[in-house]
This record gives sequence, structure tokens and C-alpha cells, in this order.
Amino acid sequence: MLASHDVIVAGAGPVGLFLACELALAGCTVLVLDKAATPDSPFKRLPFGLRGLTAPSIEALARRGLLDRLAIPQRLKTPFSAAASAAAPRQAGHFAGIPLDRDLVDTARWPYRLPAATPASLVAEMAELETVLAERAQALGVAIRRGCAVAGFVQDADGVTVSAGAGAGGDALRCAWLVGCDGARSAVRKAGGFDFAGTEPQFTGYSASVELVDADLLRPGRVQTPDGMYFQSQPGILALQDADGGAFHDAGRPVTRAHLEAVLRRISGTRVGIASVHLAATWTDRARQATRYRAGRVLLAGDAAHIHAPLGGQGLNLGLGDAMNLGWKLAAAVRGAAPPGLLDSYHAERHPVGARVLDWSRAQVALMRPDPHARALYAIVRDLLATRDGATTIAGRLWGISIQYELGGNHPLVGRSVPAFAFADGTTVDAALRPGRGLLLDFGHDAALPAVADAFHGRLAYLPVHARERLGLCALLVRPDGIVAWAGDGTPDLQALRQAAARWFGT
Ligand SMILES: Cc1cc2nc3c(=O)[nH]c(=O)nc-3n(C[C@H](O)[C@H](O)[C@H](O)COP(=O)(O)OP(=O)(O)OC[C@H]3O[C@@H](n4cnc5c(N)ncnc54)[C@H](O)[C@@H]3O)c2cc1C
Repeated sequence: MLASHDVIVAGAGPVGLFLACELALAGCTVLVLDKAATPDSPFKRLPFGLRGLTAPSIEALARRGLLDRLAIPQRLKTPFSAAASAAAPRQAGHFAGIPLDRDLVDTARWPYRLPAATPASLVAEMAELETVLAERAQALGVAIRRGCAVAGFVQDADGVTVSAGAGAGGDALRCAWLVGCDGARSAVRKAGGFDFAGTEPQFTGYSASVELVDADLLRPGRVQTPDGMYFQSQPGILALQDADGGAFHDAGRPVTRAHLEAVLRRISGTRVGIASVHLAATWTDRARQATRYRAGRVLLAGDAAHIHAPLGGQGLNLGLGDAMNLGWKLAAAVRGAAPPGLLDSYHAERHPVGARVLDWSRAQVALMRPDPHARALYAIVRDLLATRDGATTIAGRLWGISIQYELGGNHPLVGRSVPAFAFADGTTVDAALRPGRGLLLDFGHDAALPAVADAFHGRLAYLPVHARERLGLCALLVRPDGIVAWAGDGTPDLQALRQAAARWFGT
């Protein structure tokens, strides 16, 4: 059977859609299959669909011209800043519920974040993000089929046969590569026998929209109690954590009014009432990660590859980062142009980033436990977060600024996101990355550099630039995902540059 598509992506969530965009941008034919008949869900709209985006995701969207298409961050900006009183610290996220004060963060410690950098954090809405990504994917020629669940697959040396859709056995669809972006309960991960290793939950989390009776019995802000945590972010919008070891969520029972009221009363130690429940969902802090992200022609990305507590809002960011990292590499493999090891560098680079996020969420869960030992530790961490060093360290991880892939190389920029260079002609490095090609930025206008880029036949664009701030660099090699692959700060070492270019762009 001939492959009808280069890549089938299972799952039209944000990660699957962004990956499809990246693949199509690089010239692949892509089919996205999603189990749900419609993308609509109240959990994807505000307030439940609110998602914090961090620097790598914001940069990725900006580098593909998608950031400006999101209206929600701009719409929410005013109410959010207006809500903060002059006396209150300017909260820029939290760690285990401890607010992070933006004014304490010492941004001078991040010399590569130039003034033109996109914000390090902003809020988005899942529904809007998915709509923007789906429109972009379709504009690039991606086919999206909804109401069509992937049930399993068989792979051989040349491709993958995917069984999907309703009916007896469903359809058999053939592709060269399959990527599972089908969320936490990924059918691709299960069918592929991927090991999903990790830790069991400490609590059941609840997100609910309710009508409260005697709401003023609840204290404002995030309130930790001996039985868990409650937080009323807006009137009737509740987040609860019940230290039940995840038992209620795992039992799969519906969240009734009576149950939710009992949990809220127990956690808050009050007689607050719930008159009605408009919407409710549960989740846990179970933290698991696929031990490998690739098995032959099948790969995993997003929640399919890793799950953890939503504390501190990292899951979507982690998944978008997977997609940005994988897209151009898989596209090179589709073209048969991938240098040795390129596709496996996806796991090598992204698995450690995922493992750090899982530990980040575990650390928060440990601090939020209601027992006296955890409360004592919480008090110490809270004090540390009120210091400049503490706030800067936490912000660097929370906002994804400290991410650096281990690529070797002798410059501290290698493996990091390219600084937001602004050029004298009014363009930016983000705009130059929009076509999804690698860049050779030449700050010193070296006569030898155009030939280096030419050898890569269109995969690498040579760009002589006059940058307002060039950080002492003479030239920079940037991968299509915006990661610095080589940096020169004197006379360019042409041999090292050619080696780095061959490593990422082939010969
Ligand atoms: C309460 C809460 C708050 C959160 N807040 C944040 C935050 O602030 N910041 C952040 O970064 N992250 C946050 N997250 C996490 C974030 O929502 C997820 O990590 C993100 O949605 C993962 O995207 P995904 O595309 O990998 O998976 P999903 O969004 O789960 O999408 C998977 C898609 O696959 C489809 N699918 C499922 N099975 C199949 C199948 N067999 N075949 C085909 N399709 C299938 C589904 O219908 C779905 O469309 C939060 C999560 C929760 C629960």
C-alpha cells in the first residue's frame, strides 16, 4: 500500500496542530486525525481554558507569525493589570502557590534577552489558540479529519498503517511516519508499547464553576489547609486540591453537587454551600513520561509523551516546544535529507526538558502537602522566593528562559534560543525565521560566509545584517526552530561552522 501522506498526526490539540503546521511549512503532506467530532469544549474557553504561555512558546508563535493573531492576551492584559492594586506585588506566576513578584526578578542576569524580546509570559485561551493553529494548518494544506480516532497501527520498514475511524475495524490509512499527539491517554503510545514511567498522584484536583451559598466564608487567595488547598479565582470559579491520593479522579466518578460541596467544606473547614454546579472536571498530579519518544517510524509529542500536575502551567508549553523541535527534523527525514542522528536528537533534546518539568511539578506537590514537614519547608521556600536570587532562579525556570540544549560548542549561546536581534532595516530575527529555514546571520559581513550557506542548497539562508545590538558576535548559525547551533565572536572559525551546519542540515 502506498503512503497517502508523509505524516499522520494523531490528535488535533494544540500540539498536534502546531506540529502539523511545522511539517507542512517544510513541505510535507500531513493528515491530522482527531477522536472528537468537534473541537468545541467549555473547558477550552475562559476561564477554564486559560493557559499560561512561557518564553519558548511565545517565541515559537512569534517566529511563525502567529503571536499577533491571538487576541486574548491583548484583551486580558488590561483587566489583569488593573486588578493588581498599587500595594500588591506584581505577580508573575507562582511556585507551589507562592506568588512570584515580577519586580524582584533580576533580568540583567539574562544578557541574551534583548530589549526586543517577546514577553516572557502571557495568558492564552485554548480555544483561540487551537482555532488559530487549525486555520494556519489548513492554509498550509493540512487535512484535518475529526470524529476519527486512531485505534492502533502496524509499522514496517517503509511506513505505518494506521487503523482509525468508526465502523468495523475502521479505515486503514498509510503514511511514512506517525506522530502521537493524542493527549494523556494516547492510543498511539499504548499501541506502540511505549513505557510510560513515573510517579503516582498525591491528590485529586478539581476545576469547577459553581453557584456558592455563603461565599464569604471562604478566604481570599490560595488557601492551604490540613486537608488540601482551595482557591476562588473569580466568584464561583474554584480550584481545589484534595489530598486523597488521586482516588476520586481515578475512580472516574462524576462530580456531583453533593460531592463537590462535601470536599469544599472539608478542605475549607467551613459550612460554605454549593447551590449548583455549572461545570466541573478533575485531574491529578500523576507524573509520567515516555522513556523514549521514538520507536522506528512512530513518535510521541505533548501530553502523549508526558503528563504531570498542571501546577505552574507547563504542559502546553512543553508540548509546543516538542512540536517546534520535532517539526523540521521529521520534515528532513521525510525528504530523505536528514543527517545521521538528526531525528534522534528530538528525544535527546526534549526528554531532559520534559523530565525537568515533571520534577518541577513534583517539587511543588511536595511543598503543597498539608503535613507539618511540608508546611515547614514551604515557609522556607516562600522566604527564598522573596529574595532577588530566589525569584530570579524560579522565574528563569518558570518562564523557560533557562532552557539550553546540550549541543556541545564553545559559546554560551549554543543550544539556547536566538536573542531577539532587531536589524537596522527594521526587520527582526523572528521575522527572518518565519519561512522555517535555518539562518546564517552574518554581523561582520565576512566574504567567506555566503559560500558556506550556499552549500546547503536553500536549507540555510545567508543573511548579512546590521544589528543594533550584536552581543559581540561576528556570525551565528540558527536552526529552523530558533536554536543557536554555532556562534562566532571573533573571526569566524569556518571549519567549526561548516561542521555545525553539516550536523544540522546534512551535506
Ligand atoms: C486545569 C489545567 C490547567 C492547565 N494550565 C496550563 C497552563 O497554564 N499552561 C500550560 O502550559 N499547560 C497547562 N495545562 C496543560 C495543557 O492543557 C496540556 O498540557 C495541553 O493541552 C496538551 O496539549 P496536547 O495537544 O498534547 O494534548 P490535548 O490538548 O489533550 O489534545 C489531544 C487531542 O487528541 C485527541 N485524541 C485523543 N485520543 C485520540 C485518538 N485515539 N485518536 C485521535 N485523536 C485523539 C483529543 O480529542 C484532543 O483533541 C493545564 C491542564 C489542566 C488540566
